Amino acid sequence: MKDTNANHGGRTGADGAERLAVLGGTPANPRPRPALQRWGEAERTQLDAMVAQPSLFYWRGPQTALLVERFRQAYPFQHVMPCSSGTAAIHIALLAADLGPGDEVITAPITDMGTAIGILYQQAVPVFADLEADRYTLDVADVRAKITPRTKAIVAVHLCGNPCRLAELRELADRHSLVLVEDCAQAWGALYRGRPVGTLGHVGCYSLNDFKHIACGDGGLVGSNDERIGPRLQRCGDKAYDRVAGTRAPEFLAPNYRISEPQSAVAAAQMLRMESITSRRAELGLRLSAALADVPGVRPHASDPADRCTFWFYFLRLNLAELTCDRQAFVAALAGEGVPASAGYIPGPVYAWPVFQNHSFFGGRWPLREAGLTDMDYRRVRCPEAEAILETGVRIEINQAMDNDYIAVGDGRARHYARR
Ligand SMILES: *Cc1c(COP(=O)(O)O)cnc(C)c1O
Repeated sequence: MKDTNANHGGRTGADGAERLAVLGGTPANPRPRPALQRWGEAERTQLDAMVAQPSLFYWRGPQTALLVERFRQAYPFQHVMPCSSGTAAIHIALLAADLGPGDEVITAPITDMGTAIGILYQQAVPVFADLEADRYTLDVADVRAKITPRTKAIVAVHLCGNPCRLAELRELADRHSLVLVEDCAQAWGALYRGRPVGTLGHVGCYSLNDFKHIACGDGGLVGSNDERIGPRLQRCGDKAYDRVAGTRAPEFLAPNYRISEPQSAVAAAQMLRMESITSRRAELGLRLSAALADVPGVRPHASDPADRCTFWFYFLRLNLAELTCDRQAFVAALAGEGVPASAGYIPGPVYAWPVFQNHSFFGGRWPLREAGLTDMDYRRVRCPEAEAILETGVRIEINQAMDNDYIAVGDGRARHYARR
């Protein structure tokens, strides 16, 4: 994006405007994308300590204890269960909330499959609400419209690290006695009105998979300050065995979603890096939004100035009516300039994926529907704004090793495809 035309001897067009690299100009950003060194001494120190331990089991494991301690410094939860993935964290949260057959859970149509897996395994029904056009988080009015007597929970996804409207969602949840689960998998370091996301609903879920900002290969955490939910989290991720009481007499069905000491060792070290990684990304994203504010045909990734969006990636939208090119050509032009960009995100909204379209959740079947416990038909679900977001979105990678100069917009080039 950086306009370094003059410094790098790029050619200009007949009208003096900078020429796009795809049309023979010099790339605006000739620098390679800065590489990230994600692991170092902090991780090595924990792994060395771990190797000296007699056991790698999570319960009373020193690495897991350290992970939980550092996690709670950033996220003040009374109850925390470290687990094997973000998917596991969400499933544990829903199990702890006593979600059961036929219950409805309102959630977002642009997300990872991991958001829906726990809902479906509890024999509950994901109900998709539409998103806001420029923030890509749940549209509160549509969530409200989708509440029925069967609704039991809302899973709010802080997509790209952009906090949902949590005050409104919490108010709605409390008024209808729903459990508000926050899916913070993409939102390490994100703040809602200064408070860490995950702590405003009833239960917060986090992913430590390799693609997230804070990672240990695979892992997750779930935390709660709700006394109905929090004390159940450990059992819900550990076969319903009660490690606190030291008893093994399951009272309900729960999977084994335990973390282990090697994962915890790396994750505990990663916690030390969270603030620097995510505050840097927040700043880079805001800089990009400011730089794009006046570019015709481009709708910047919106975030609330009172919050902190940590931009897991930056997702702008094209207003194609204002442009003379299509999205593919726009992305090709960006790539030509040295901008790490790609078209879209997931191939379609979650409800459009084959497993939903075919209702093929369990051995090709959906027992819940066959038993008449739901009449949900995902072939008829539509979230028009979410579909439009995916059709017009352009994903731009932000990375914390980029310096401020990396974010700039060459005016002449940015206007090349503008109609006016
Ligand atoms: C990554 C992700 C998950 C699932 O996390 P895993 O650790 O991969 O299971 C859930 N929700 C969202 C929004 C995610 O991005």
